[in-house]
Amino acid sequence: MLDMLSEVDYCQKMIATEFQKPLQMTDEEEELFKAAEECHICGGKYLDTEVRVRDHCHITDKYRGSAHQDCNLKLRISPKEFKVPVIFHNLRGYGSHFIMQEIGSIGKSNDLSINCIPNNMEKYMAFMLSKHLVFLDSFQFMASSLERLAANLPTDTFKYTSDVFENFRKTCHQYYKLDPCHYFTSPGLSWDAMLKMTGIKLELMTDVDMF
Ligand SMILES: [Zn+2]
Repeated sequence: MLDMLSEVDYCQKMIATEFQKPLQMTDEEEELFKAAEECHICGGKYLDTEVRVRDHCHITDKYRGSAHQDCNLKLRISPKEFKVPVIFHNLRGYGSHFIMQEIGSIGKSNDLSINCIPNNMEKYMAFMLSKHLVFLDSFQFMASSLERLAANLPTDTFKYTSDVFENFRKTCHQYYKLDPCHYFTSPGLSWDAMLKMTGIKLELMTDVDMF
């Protein structure tokens, strides 16, 4: 548990110092930027009036592509709000119980901020330690035993919880360009995937009798 607290400290320091790297660009990338006709984030073709910017990763300093100014701002990670996901399988049903008991006793004396999304007094869907560590439950996305989930992976790889969830993230990225780590459960993720894939704009409900 104390290791976890030092991890919280470490994450906070790393994020403050390492996650704001300025862009490093090769000549070849500059040429690609000048020639780009569409935004690499939304895939839309540029109109003459739109401002184009060089989108880069603030963690690795690498150039990612040419993008709309708006799209670039939306994708930005703020060092102040950045979250490091910690994944447990069945966190809500089992793991969180022991962790929270310990955190409760240690957290108070360490001035650690703790937030959670509770289902009830005993079950937590997710919880956050300080500003940057968020504990998520992979069971909320894949409601099956680890054994069964691991059976879907290629046989020549090591099979840990992380492999199962990383594989799921990769698939979501590939199909929807969404990261499950930004969600707490699969309904939230599938709702956004639906909005993104259909491009539908929901009407504001202005009439109480509408639905
Ligand atoms: Zn765009």
